[in-house]
Amino acid sequence: MFKRFQLALAAALTLLLPISRAQAQTNAAPEDPRVTTARQILADYQAGAPRNHRVLHVAYFCPADRTPAPDYQARLGRVLGDISKFYATQLHAYGLPSDGIPLDYDATGNLVIHLVKGSHPAADYSEAKSADEIYQDVEKVMTADGINLKTNHCVVFTRLGNYDGTNTSHNSPYCGTGNSHSGFCWQFDSDLLDTRQLLNTNVWVTDHQYGHISVGRYNTIFIGGTAHELGHLFGLPHNAGTATDYKTRGHALMGEGNRHYAEELRGEGKGSYLTLAHALRIAANPVFSHVDKGLDEPWHTSVPTCHFEPAGRTMKVTGNFESSQPIYGVVLYVDPTGGSDYDAVSYAGTLGPDHTFTFDLTDLPTRVKSGEIRLILLCASGQHLNVGGRCQARFNYTIGTDGLYQVVPASKRKPAGE
Ligand SMILES: [Zn+2]
Repeated sequence: MFKRFQLALAAALTLLLPISRAQAQTNAAPEDPRVTTARQILADYQAGAPRNHRVLHVAYFCPADRTPAPDYQARLGRVLGDISKFYATQLHAYGLPSDGIPLDYDATGNLVIHLVKGSHPAADYSEAKSADEIYQDVEKVMTADGINLKTNHCVVFTRLGNYDGTNTSHNSPYCGTGNSHSGFCWQFDSDLLDTRQLLNTNVWVTDHQYGHISVGRYNTIFIGGTAHELGHLFGLPHNAGTATDYKTRGHALMGEGNRHYAEELRGEGKGSYLTLAHALRIAANPVFSHVDKGLDEPWHTSVPTCHFEPAGRTMKVTGNFESSQPIYGVVLYVDPTGGSDYDAVSYAGTLGPDHTFTFDLTDLPTRVKSGEIRLILLCASGQHLNVGGRCQARFNYTIGTDGLYQVVPASKRKPAGE
């Protein structure tokens, strides 16, 4: 659900039901040393830094022949409030501090939504071609409202969701991009989008993409889609959990977890979750950390050594790094060939003394016999956040007839610290 666009971006319930997701599953206990280390290094780095007061800005785009869907302000307030709670719950489950996604509320407690009027009728817009134009229309309004999209994170809901009482579809861009400086994502709004409908299995619709589904499932898919695109906006790429994670925890939000958001509330599955690697990565986004320290300082980093010791479906990875800014963690993606990066299994490593790191990779993917391994150092200022797969070290692997991973440096490494 993510596409890269040539934008001038820096780089790229209150439900009427209990949120049982507060007890989200996790395979990382709060005392996990990877989390303890990250918390300590981030706390030391951020100590004394001024609070940035960043919020996620919200725009609402109406084509020339449409007005906002009924109750849009309150509905979208509930949707974003629920997603904020989801992110906070996921980070808390790992022992990471978070107060969720800061939203922009007016003095009366209503979500601030910047209305944008398009120049064409709804039928003229499309998912494939309208992202740039809508971005530019939003940028004009946000600039006039004093918000620079080059230094802020902004989600736009387009009034390009369609519902005739039976059938649903949309012709809206549906994607996201971002990093630690800024981010932008495109969603659509429709009359049906509401956390209050997540439990609705009485009313069914026929969706152009997803077929005959309950209104509850519709909201799982499209509120989950919003949560997924916001992940891109905050600088997360796609990823997947391990096969064991899938059995025990459900679906990684940045894989195909967008289609499973809150489904557990209806007893329809395990729901979606944020992997530890992504919880750690996002913790330093200035929207979550509330500090901008070091954001504009050049970050120079490298990984001089990285060794792989495969043993069956496990592999130990050790190495060392250099960095001009404090490093609070290290993550690694094992991305089988094909499947884009949706199936890139993510792992969080452990930092050791003297700028060393260790991974104990388990449950390695073996169905596809080749792929890529990417290693990313987590920079305290958040500059490691990017949706495009930039990394400090890149390797290719094949799986031999003995079943073991054979890892070699990728022929073309991307520059470190970009
Ligand atoms: Zn995506």
